[in-house]
Amino acid sequence: MKSENQYIQLDNSTITLAIKREDLLHPHISGNKYRKLKYNLIQAKEENKDTLLTFGGAFSNHIAALAYAGKLHNFKTIGVIRGDELESKTNENPTLKFAQECGMKFKFETRENYKIKDNPDYINNLHDEFGDFYLIPEGGTNELAIKGCLEILNEDDTDFDFICCAIGSSGTISGIIKSAKTNQTILGFPSLKGTFFDKEIHKFAPNYSNWKIISDYHFEGYGKVTPKLVDFLNKFYSKHRIPLDPIYTGKMVFGVIDLIKKNYFPENSKILVIHTGGLQGIEGMNLKLKTKNLPQIESYD
Ligand SMILES: *Cc1c(COP(=O)(O)O)cnc(C)c1O
Repeated sequence: MKSENQYIQLDNSTITLAIKREDLLHPHISGNKYRKLKYNLIQAKEENKDTLLTFGGAFSNHIAALAYAGKLHNFKTIGVIRGDELESKTNENPTLKFAQECGMKFKFETRENYKIKDNPDYINNLHDEFGDFYLIPEGGTNELAIKGCLEILNEDDTDFDFICCAIGSSGTISGIIKSAKTNQTILGFPSLKGTFFDKEIHKFAPNYSNWKIISDYHFEGYGKVTPKLVDFLNKFYSKHRIPLDPIYTGKMVFGVIDLIKKNYFPENSKILVIHTGGLQGIEGMNLKLKTKNLPQIESYD
């Protein structure tokens, strides 16, 4: 499957900017989560598994995508959710409510226990509790996910000099790095604080040097949204009619446009930004912003 590149008009600039609308790949299995799940679902079928188990936070795009994909392809789904305080609040959380309506069963885990979720003993306990399942890691990132992300770029994209992508667990950018042409530079914009991205990318895409991390646009950290970012999302939407999510793509596109203004890119550069989706998260984020009396994100239909 191939998604369309939409050109974005820039005022007073020699730069060409386009956005790859991976958010439109599927209404519920959004953007990169579609790419990351594809080969995992095929593998799970091959292994005759009837249950998928994964991990995620309260607003996780991956949880929503996996719940829907499970429903679509006849898998039972189990989500191990970070934060045991959410157990009584499932209905107040649009992401969890959606996942539950798709048939996902939850195990709410304390933050303490969630930290040790990759521990073999912890996984064994999950098998005692839930029986056999196909495990997909938090954020969906594994080797098969990266294989799926090799399919984001296609033959229409070879002329772009820069490919820009948001980073969470680094799976998506690793696939892009491995599938890019030699004339292309990949810029990754982490949505969280930290310095571990380089290590992760070296692990999933060893021996590539066509990429760079730009760590100035995480807006105080993962899941943090400031009024300045909300204002940017709303203005971007009213000007270009392209909705961006507040956790990943909004921060990345803010960064790209800021770098264009600061003349980071050489004249006449052609830039492609990847819209990795995530729009399901807006509703939950707006509820959170409302409780803090902060402006709402209006950038969706
Ligand atoms: C999960 C997600 C990402 C991060 O992808 P990784 O492969 O974990 O780096 C980026 N954008 C959106 C919209 C996402 O949902």
